[in-house]
Amino acid sequence: MLVEIANFISLRRHVGKARAAGLSRDVAARVAAAYPDVRLHPASASLLEIDFEGDTAEDLAVCLAAIRALCDAPFDLDGEQHRIELIFAAAVCAAERADEVRLTEEAEAALAEARAGNRAVTHDLVQPGRREVQRLGRELDLAIARNELLIQYQPKVHVRRQEIGSAEALIRWRHPTRGLVLPGDFIPAAEQAHLIDRLTLWTIRQVIADHQRLADRGHDLRLFINISGQLLSDEAFVREACALVGESDAKLGFEITETSVIRDPVGAIANLQIFADSGVVIAIDDYGAGLSSLAYLKQLPARELKIDKLFVTQLTSSNRDPLIVRSTIDLAHALEMEVVAEGVESHAAMALLTVMGCDMVQGFLISRPITLEALETFLSDQRARPAVADARPGLRALATAWARR
Ligand code: C2E
Ligand code: CA
Ligand code: CA
Repeated sequence: MLVEIANFISLRRHVGKARAAGLSRDVAARVAAAYPDVRLHPASASLLEIDFEGDTAEDLAVCLAAIRALCDAPFDLDGEQHRIELIFAAAVCAAERADEVRLTEEAEAALAEARAGNRAVTHDLVQPGRREVQRLGRELDLAIARNELLIQYQPKVHVRRQEIGSAEALIRWRHPTRGLVLPGDFIPAAEQAHLIDRLTLWTIRQVIADHQRLADRGHDLRLFINISGQLLSDEAFVREACALVGESDAKLGFEITETSVIRDPVGAIANLQIFADSGVVIAIDDYGAGLSSLAYLKQLPARELKIDKLFVTQLTSSNRDPLIVRSTIDLAHALEMEVVAEGVESHAAMALLTVMGCDMVQGFLISRPITLEALETFLSDQRARPAVADARPGLRALATAWARR
């Protein structure tokens, strides 16, 4: 957040150059008293930079309103009460993708707009703007034509069988100037630009070809594809996807989020049933993140439930998450679904999940997402060794102790 003193010139005339030089520090002091957690950098006499983290992008608006209210009361400048008029501008982005340079540039651009429009302006990099979406849409359109998209696979290990029975296809974009772009940075734009149907049909074709190549080399895996919610009510997509699936004998799975059926439950569930009937295994992705509605869970023709990595990565450091994970596993089993834990990064998490009865695990502990060639090597290597090193004895004791609780 950038906070600029709008009436700096007139205040300086009044209090003198020397006192005015510290004005942004006056504002900083007031903010610091109310918000000890934010980081304050007086950038100049008239400009204050405030850095902070929140749980959601909406926290920015809340924080901005609070600081504005806080600074509304007059300031004591050498015994005189003065109002400091402030201009607010800010930029917000997802913490895991925080790029300080970009964030500062966006905040500065927002400040220029705020000055001109005499109002607070925030730039939201979490939700790309319309122009950004249009630009990305055009680029992505070209990317499909130029073959810049590629798929990496992340294996899922069946815990009891100690074997890799499936893998998830994760799309990447080998961008000519930006390097490898991860899906979080272009899937939302592809959805907004109505390119997600083409992109997903491309992915299905590619995955079918890769499945064939794996089968030719003796690897019998089910390959899972992520399907955006909006596609489930897109009749043209469903028709084309069904045709592709029907023509091939590849073992496929679709990962969908539970909330993706909320917009049009009857249509979406009917379409999922069509896929399920043609042999596609349906998995419910990101379970527990965001809105989960048990009302739909029972109606979905799903065979797998994936516990969101948010719970899994914190499994061994939080008191609450193990309970959520264990009850989710029990619930899924009651509904005759298999449970996949995603985001398994440690042996400790793996051990705990094993005793909790989790059926499958996926995560950096086993493998990062890798190219098809690397997957082939990985699968061949695994034939020689067991799929995953078993949980170490010490951790196993910990897990057993937990299971008895
Ligand atoms: P997702 O379906 O939840 O995919 C799992 C994400 O978790 C992947 O990120 C993966 O790299 C990451 N991950 C895997 N193991 C671990 C771990 O042990 N720890 C942690 N912290 N993370 C792990 P990625 O590849 O960046 O994908 C992000 C999201 O993009 C996916 O989330 C999925 O929703 C979406 N996506 C990916 N490919 C496609 C696609 O072809 N179509 C659509 N519609 N969405 C896609
Ligand atoms: Ca997924
Ligand atoms: Ca997921």
